[in-house]
Amino acid sequence: MNILITGGAGFIGSHLTRALLANGETVAVLDNLSTGSFENIREFVGHKRFSFAIEDLNNELVLDRLASQADAIVHLAAAVGVQLVVERPTETIETNVMGTHTVLKAARRYRCRTLLASTSEVYGKGVRTPFSEEDDLLLGPSSRSRWSYAASKLLDEFLGLAAYREYGLPVTITRFFNTVGPGQTGRYGMVVPRFVRQALQGEPLTVYGDGEQSRCFCHVSDTVGALEALLNRPEITAGEIYNIGSGDEITINALAQTVIDRADSASTLRHIPYSEAYAPGFEDMRRRVPDTAKIERAIGWRPAHTLEQILDDVIGYERTQLLKSVRRAHE
Ligand code: UDP
Repeated sequence: MNILITGGAGFIGSHLTRALLANGETVAVLDNLSTGSFENIREFVGHKRFSFAIEDLNNELVLDRLASQADAIVHLAAAVGVQLVVERPTETIETNVMGTHTVLKAARRYRCRTLLASTSEVYGKGVRTPFSEEDDLLLGPSSRSRWSYAASKLLDEFLGLAAYREYGLPVTITRFFNTVGPGQTGRYGMVVPRFVRQALQGEPLTVYGDGEQSRCFCHVSDTVGALEALLNRPEITAGEIYNIGSGDEITINALAQTVIDRADSASTLRHIPYSEAYAPGFEDMRRRVPDTAKIERAIGWRPAHTLEQILDDVIGYERTQLLKSVRRAHE
């Protein structure tokens, strides 16, 4: 299969690229390197089934050419990370809504099988956990810019489902819950790479709020496995929305302690009020747990990695990165 991955130089996109190439697929990556990085795809350059274009999604000519050569599109390109979303709300809305609109237009032209990435953010402040795909969604007020991310991705979902219903385009929506693993940057707020780096450098781990908020962390290779399986099953998954995440819930305090233990670090925890950690307009979620029964029923997927395995992987990766930067500093 020829697969176009928008946002392919991002964290999930580059892991997906690696897996697809290993399985014999042909992959084209489209990425403007806004939050993705060339480092993430450098290893694929020169591979005979890999190509890339450093371009914006709204370059319709490039997108059209790439879509015309693709059997499937995995649309991952989006403004992501809470910090970025709060700091640059206009860019978030424009990238997410217009980008998806352009991708779907191109997909319709060439009848591409399409996976659209959405997010657990769309469940908003819902208090009934676990979150299931048919649940009502409860977003905060528009005066708080965090919710613009959820609203923009929700509009993406509506656009995708409309393309399926009105034009028969085989679109599947994936709602990612917290996804982590080697190669994720902490620059845009993601907690696991931040904690791991702090622990390895002997700095205090910065826990926001009281730290009793909880999340479930899924290994990126499990997430990628779900995407590959969904790609291959349009006949049962087109027009559907699936949660992708782990059901293993942990508080941020407990996560911080587990990182310290596994990294064998002497770091301590430092609690920081939300008002100091984020720009105004931020509101945190207390709990976020996915119900993944639907995707398990459809394609038999469930995550395989434990939190300990995930953290060991990230710690190993970050140790190597730190060593590399120390060596570079001495060269
Ligand atoms: N968080 C934290 N310290 C950090 C970064 C994040 O305590 O350095 C908290 C954050 O407030 C949230 C949780 O960790 O409650 C997960 O944050 P992340 O940005 O990784 O994901 P999301 O908020 O999108 O679930």
